[in-house]
Amino acid sequence: MPKDYNLTPKPGKRISLADHDPNYHADHDEESARAELAILREELDEWQERLYAEGKQSLLCVFQAMDTGGKDGVIKKVFETCNPQGLRVASFKAPTSDELARNFLWRIQNQVPPKGHIGVFNRSHYEDVLVVRVNQLVPKKVWKARYEQINEFEQLLTETGTTILKFYLHISKDEQKQRMEDRLADPKKQWKFSMGDLPVRERWADYMAAYEDAIGKCNTEAARWYIVPANHKWYRDLVVMKAVVKALEQMNPQYPPPEAGLNQVKIPD
Ligand code: ATP
Ligand code: MG
Repeated sequence: MPKDYNLTPKPGKRISLADHDPNYHADHDEESARAELAILREELDEWQERLYAEGKQSLLCVFQAMDTGGKDGVIKKVFETCNPQGLRVASFKAPTSDELARNFLWRIQNQVPPKGHIGVFNRSHYEDVLVVRVNQLVPKKVWKARYEQINEFEQLLTETGTTILKFYLHISKDEQKQRMEDRLADPKKQWKFSMGDLPVRERWADYMAAYEDAIGKCNTEAARWYIVPANHKWYRDLVVMKAVVKALEQMNPQYPPPEAGLNQVKIPD
């Protein structure tokens, strides 16, 4: 029997990532997971159409992970058949001087999905309590205040029509080594490897501690974190897809009613 796995820890609880097995895959194998994913993808496409047609609410999916954790992969697998017109993917790199001259949420706010859209964040405002904390890019006092600032920001978004799902793709350090070696060996993947990824890997334990705090302190009723077991790509994709479809079901967007008199309309020749 597979061990229990707590995918969405309750708000207010301290997080221990060591208690989450990155290899977990419930009772799925690759074949069953891929088959279920294909069915759910059709459901997602239908929900996205309704969300867009309704134009009253939006969904924001935040993805965070260590390098090679699978952010690019899961975004592709889950959203690849969505209508691009209603989908906005934003990737957050190291801030520009222009962005650094503002508060850390300025560039984030600017990418929040408008009503009717699904927004996807590849990295996010959480970098400002992860890489920024580990590398001491700002004083401790500054990053410590950010957990509460993030909670208030996310609260504002949810109160104004945006449902937020936050995914931490949880891989093991061994799995990262394997994936980095694969990248180095494959000319089609070498572009994904950066020398700068190595010093980050060296600080693995510091990053895990930073993730535990980021997830624990910003796991609110309004915007829950999912700790996605991500060593198996096929299970990772399924977990995220299920959460996205479930959120859309709960949002339950409706096609707007037809204009009055539509049944009388005759299209002229
Ligand atoms: P990824 O590494 O996400 O797959 P990439 O390799 O194309 O994408 P990079 O050029 O590595 O992109 O940019 C991401 C880098 O930017 C990461 O090292 C990340 O920690 C850093 N970054 C993102 N946001 C911030 C921030 N607010 N402050 C400092 N660094 C940041
Ligand atoms: Mg990178």
